[in-house]
Amino acid sequence: MNTHEKPLRQAAVAVVGAGFAGLSAARALMAAGVDVVVLEARDRVGGRSFTRPASDGTLIDLGGQWIGPTQDRLAALAEAVGVTTFHTYNEGHNIEYRNGQRVTYAGAIPMGDPLVTMEVVETILSLSMMASEVPLDAPWTAPAADEWDSQTVASWIMQNVQSAEVRDTLSLAVQAVFSCEPRDLSLLHFLFYIHSGGNLNQLVGVVGGAQERRFHGGSQSIANKVAHELGERVVLNAPVHTITQNDEGVLIECDTLAIMAQQAIIAIPPALAGRLRYRPALPGYRDQLTQRMPMGTVIKVHCLYETPFWRAEGLSGQVVSYDGIIRVTYDNSPESGKPGVLLAFIEGDEGRTWGRRSLEERRAAALACLARYFGEQAAHPFEYIEQNWAEEEYTRGCYAGIMPPGGWISYGEALRAPIGRLHWAGTETATVWNGYLDGAIQSGERAAAEVLDTLHHVAT
Ligand SMILES: Cc1cc2nc3c(=O)[nH]c(=O)nc-3n(C[C@H](O)[C@H](O)[C@H](O)COP(=O)(O)OP(=O)(O)OC[C@H]3O[C@@H](n4cnc5c(N)ncnc54)[C@H](O)[C@@H]3O)c2cc1C
Repeated sequence: MNTHEKPLRQAAVAVVGAGFAGLSAARALMAAGVDVVVLEARDRVGGRSFTRPASDGTLIDLGGQWIGPTQDRLAALAEAVGVTTFHTYNEGHNIEYRNGQRVTYAGAIPMGDPLVTMEVVETILSLSMMASEVPLDAPWTAPAADEWDSQTVASWIMQNVQSAEVRDTLSLAVQAVFSCEPRDLSLLHFLFYIHSGGNLNQLVGVVGGAQERRFHGGSQSIANKVAHELGERVVLNAPVHTITQNDEGVLIECDTLAIMAQQAIIAIPPALAGRLRYRPALPGYRDQLTQRMPMGTVIKVHCLYETPFWRAEGLSGQVVSYDGIIRVTYDNSPESGKPGVLLAFIEGDEGRTWGRRSLEERRAAALACLARYFGEQAAHPFEYIEQNWAEEEYTRGCYAGIMPPGGWISYGEALRAPIGRLHWAGTETATVWNGYLDGAIQSGERAAAEVLDTLHHVAT
């Protein structure tokens, strides 16, 4: 293979991408005594986990940040590298904003019209029962897979949910969990995801849910510590563009470096994996999978204030709103409570629309929304920070790749199936906590086990 005079490094295994998936794969391989190199496009590790200081030094998680119960792999990795957690602020009343009306409420859902509350509970129950029928390692084999993968969440809502309020609530849940719209999402994928994370309450909840705790030092500190353990095995500023495999091995090429390895783990989202050049070209079946897993759209916004002034008013900082650029917020202050930090998400259609406008316009619209929820003080943060993940060349959207209708039943088997020397990782390939940091770790560890198995067979 011709490497065009680039420095050529040898390794048993090359990993593409130093997010939680790639780093976990490399960590497992290093522990097994395997010579591994990780190529990372960015000048940092962590991928969709990205922590940076605000102007006053407060550490801000611009990407993934929370950990909840049953995310055992993430808990174990954090503990192994010495990163501790603290509880998400969850005291006081939440705010609901609907049709220009602002109401505060205690508990997980507002208890308004009892008929509406009953329909919410019934809908969550039927979705949970359907979700439990989706096999996590093969969603396309669910008894009703054909029916569920032939419709969107939007069409299911239209046919199965009576009240406008409950329809809106489910749509908001989709925007908050997937950062896309109900019309984008296969019902089968929605159900798979619910099962993968436990249940719908666990996906959207704080106490007992996926938003329960945060990491001291931010989630990226875990990735940084793993990268430190890996040392020179991690190469930054190395965007891979071409992967060539033949009888000799697999050649992974960046502009400035090439790695010759026996096996490779591609630990990037399917949408990005489909943009690499493969020689020989990948089977059409695999390529067509990557044509069908778009990323969601989210802009994560942080507003910093001298104090979390909403706490003094008995508010938790949590909002659910049915209109406006900002529909979901949390109190994201540091554990010390100083400064006060409001976290606000611009998701799905709002992200698509507002992502094309100027920062000034977006900031003004976001602050106007926060002022509606929390009063005029919210319109005057001392700092406004945002991260638009669709604009990131090496991510192109968040929180994760999703399946539109037909994706699982037609292409699901291609998601993890190795092709020659190539193995696939990344949170999109996880069976448990798919789309989350925990799922990324599971995928990396699974791909490392696959590779170890292959290397073992070759050696014996
Ligand atoms: C705003 C936001 C909030 C989130 N909130 C949470 C949360 O609270 N809790 C949670 O558990 N999860 C959350 N997530 C999801 C979580 O961050 C992801 O599931 C997880 O980080 C994915 O890890 P990964 O390793 O699979 O992929 P990535 O993190 O995307 O890693 C892929 C890596 O590959 C690199 N790369 C890409 N292309 C190339 C190339 N050609 N060559 C070399 N390297 C390449 C990228 O730079 C990146 O470092 C959130 C995500 C976002 C964006």
